[in-house]
Amino acid sequence: MANVKFHSGEQIPLEMHKVRIVQKLNLPSVERRLKAITEAGNNTFLLKNRDVFIDMLTDSGVNAMSDRQQAAMFIADDSYAGSETFIRLENKLKEIFDTEYFLPTHQGRACENIISQILVQPGLIVPMNYHFTTTKSHITLNGGIVEELICDAGLEVTSSYPFKGNMDVIKLKAFVEKHGADKIAFVRMEAGANLIGGQPFSLNNLSEVRKVCDKHGLILVLDASLLADNLYFIKTREQECKNMSIREITLKIASLCDVIYFSARKLGCARGGGICTNNKDIFVKMRELIPLYEGFLTYGGMSVREMEAITVGLDETMDEDFISQGPQFIAFMVDELMKKGVPVVTPAGGLGCHINAMDFVSHIPQEQYPAGALAAALYIASGVRGMERGTLSEQRNPDGTETFSNMELLRLAIPRRVFTLSQIKYVIDRIVWLHKNRNLIEGLTFVEEPNILRFFFGRLKPVSNWQEKLAEKFRKDFGDSL
Ligand SMILES: *Cc1c(COP(=O)(O)O)cnc(C)c1O
Repeated sequence: MANVKFHSGEQIPLEMHKVRIVQKLNLPSVERRLKAITEAGNNTFLLKNRDVFIDMLTDSGVNAMSDRQQAAMFIADDSYAGSETFIRLENKLKEIFDTEYFLPTHQGRACENIISQILVQPGLIVPMNYHFTTTKSHITLNGGIVEELICDAGLEVTSSYPFKGNMDVIKLKAFVEKHGADKIAFVRMEAGANLIGGQPFSLNNLSEVRKVCDKHGLILVLDASLLADNLYFIKTREQECKNMSIREITLKIASLCDVIYFSARKLGCARGGGICTNNKDIFVKMRELIPLYEGFLTYGGMSVREMEAITVGLDETMDEDFISQGPQFIAFMVDELMKKGVPVVTPAGGLGCHINAMDFVSHIPQEQYPAGALAAALYIASGVRGMERGTLSEQRNPDGTETFSNMELLRLAIPRRVFTLSQIKYVIDRIVWLHKNRNLIEGLTFVEEPNILRFFFGRLKPVSNWQEKLAEKFRKDFGDSL
């Protein structure tokens, strides 16, 4: 966003775009919200959109498109093979990453499937700054082992460390020396580390990781799904990069990695994904799997319209005004909540505002899913849909015991260019109310529990009638207001 000072001294993020297409929203009554969350098995993934007022579930595939993106969709070249649309996308990726080869996929996790099938063998380890849900599932499905080497600050909920997504390079060195390079499938760095609050790595950290990879002949894979936020943070927080353009930073990052993959549901603000590399050997191996799982090599499961939108979206990602909107709205929300004493992840990251449920509802034990309970409670109090990112998003161990997550977060994603500041203020208001009434919130327990990625469609129930009591308190305090 542009550098604009307010005469009042107030610091608020200023949108550098105007809204030209709108969608009507519906705010159901608290009685309806109570019913809806029960019908959804207390899982916000299972709520119907018609019952949701502000949808902060995710930033995936729900970012607002620009007029240029929509215009590009009209000129999409529909053909099974060899479409001009594909060539435009391929060329755009060559331009911003300087990579020779591109494989299209239908979304981010499809890249993870293909990369894991080619590079992971049973017993091999993948050291990474931090895991993502689908990443871990694909690596373990192929018999691999995930090893997280995030820097210590990364797991501190509140911190002033600007690059909490950094890998601990000393730990990486020791790890490689201990296990030997032939036990390692590849090293993975995730931009805007999702599960710890959209936290960035620094360019310097990535360079240090690269040095370790070079020394031991290891492949470095970048998950660039949340690269846009990470680019903004490198530009604004890393002293050495102050004078570099977003394009220069992007090229530098790409030059340090062997394989780059991304979800275009986030990067590029449309729907799709892809893998970029300069490594011909890896490219040739992965290429065989694309027609098998995705579609022919010139669409990979994406519609040509979406591919045109991604091409333009990637170009717009190189514009600082464009990529700053999300982080600045998030910083506003984090600052306002902190002022009111609500525990949040700091410093503000990308992707969304993350509430620390471990502290917010410290009376709920981890086996009763504090972040999941908080997500259900916030929905009842506001019609706002967030996403649990804690123990519920983990998988049980083979012996049936829980893997307790390092953090219990309620993630309130802020899709790019979608919400206005008054909507953000409404969300803040209801969270503050809920925080004052937090002792009314109790835990959840599973009624139906899938074995894999249980958070997507598992069903839960409250451990008592606490949700009715919360709705009653809402009525008492807000009267007939929605
Ligand atoms: C969303 C995401 C993915 C998976 O992408 P999909 O398009 O949802 O399959 C992988 N890694 C990260 C960091 C993500 O945020």
